[in-house]
Amino acid sequence: MADTSGLRVAIAGAGLGGLCLAQGLARAGVDVQVYERDATADARRQGYRLHVDARAGLALRRCLPADLLRLFLATASRPSRAFTVLSSRLRTLHVTHTDPDRDPYRPATLATSVDRGTFREILSAGLDDRIHRGRELDGYEADPAGVTLRFADGSTERADVLVGADGINSAVRRTLLPDVTPADTGARIIYGRTPLDAQTRPLVPAALRDGFTAIVGGRVGMAAGLVEFRQPPPEAAATIAPGVRLTAAGDYLMWAVSARREHLPDLAGLDAAGLHAVAADAIRRWHPDLRALLARAAVDETFLVRVRSAERVQPWRPGRVTLLGDAIHAMSPARGSGANTALQDASNLCAALTSGGGDAVAAIGAYEEKMRDYGFAAVEASRRAERRASPYWLWILERLPVRNRVAGGGR
Ligand SMILES: Cc1cc2nc3c(=O)[nH]c(=O)nc-3n(C[C@H](O)[C@H](O)[C@H](O)COP(=O)(O)OP(=O)(O)OC[C@H]3O[C@@H](n4cnc5c(N)ncnc54)[C@H](O)[C@@H]3O)c2cc1C
Repeated sequence: MADTSGLRVAIAGAGLGGLCLAQGLARAGVDVQVYERDATADARRQGYRLHVDARAGLALRRCLPADLLRLFLATASRPSRAFTVLSSRLRTLHVTHTDPDRDPYRPATLATSVDRGTFREILSAGLDDRIHRGRELDGYEADPAGVTLRFADGSTERADVLVGADGINSAVRRTLLPDVTPADTGARIIYGRTPLDAQTRPLVPAALRDGFTAIVGGRVGMAAGLVEFRQPPPEAAATIAPGVRLTAAGDYLMWAVSARREHLPDLAGLDAAGLHAVAADAIRRWHPDLRALLARAAVDETFLVRVRSAERVQPWRPGRVTLLGDAIHAMSPARGSGANTALQDASNLCAALTSGGGDAVAAIGAYEEKMRDYGFAAVEASRRAERRASPYWLWILERLPVRNRVAGGGR
């Protein structure tokens, strides 16, 4: 059994969950190393706007140094005041107002959105000598004394514990749970981003200025949300954490056009411009402001998500190797929950490994038992949310009078 006081932890994947765990372990004095496949932090498109809630807030409060938590909150977006469902002609079908008495920037009541790129830069801050980029994990061998990590370039490393935070196609999961693979739900989402400037700001419908919006139109749906930084990232870093460099980023509208794969043309092999053209065609009969916003997108930043979702996994015997985030409970983006759950995992695993029990395998077992419960509950909730966005539910919604109620935290 490993003693957590001298523990060496290897994390595969410098995504949101892996970086949050690395911050927490480094803060607790654990020898932690992160091995990331991509050679640079911006090598792949992974989305723009992330909804974050109290699960993220509490996890970041536990794992991040105080200045990075303040920087995260200062660079978050202005919060949603409502979640609105609109018709494709911009008629309001349903409004849920957020509770005005909840502070959207307190970790325990967090309810806002962040730019993923800025967030990853904050999560990476101070970890430069611990993040090893261009190191793709290929597999591992666990033995009674530790774990040997094998990399695609033929190199190896040793650690006491290996955490697979390597996302939906996890190489760690392939060895630990070879029968577990997330299934394609058949939903396809084309994501894009329209920068906000003097031409595009006036086109943003009033409901979108109030918060996250779902627009329904037959077999096609669109989700849209603004990212309006409370403070420009470089300026916030200069005052709150002067050692941290954040890339300049402007406000934008994130949009996502979704449909079942059978209701879209063949998307295989399409580049960003091809995907953008499909999205524009899918909403060609919609309100002119929505079409104009899509037409003014940063076209080469458009990308496709084929939605995959995990099935609940039966308990396995704990060992020196474990999983967090999308590597174990990948889910549809429909409820904005995957990143929040990955951060919750990171915080819980960090607490378990550093709680002083000295038995790493027992700590991992305790973490995994809880994680399976809330992790797969979040997957099931996201599946229900995806079903609720189906054409049938939307058909019913279009025929109901406008509903207006108050809820805890908005997207
Ligand atoms: C478009 C989009 C919008 C979303 N919006 C939201 C939202 O609003 N709110 C929300 O909570 N969730 C959202 N999600 C889900 C969220 O992005 C994921 O659940 C979250 O990123 C999972 O974090 P992770 O750390 O588990 O994995 P990731 O963030 O995917 O990180 C995995 C990392 O592992 C690396 N890696 C992969 N394989 C290897 C290997 N073999 N060796 C080494 N490194 C490897 C990858 O390069 C990557 O850096 C969204 C997802 C998408 C696609």
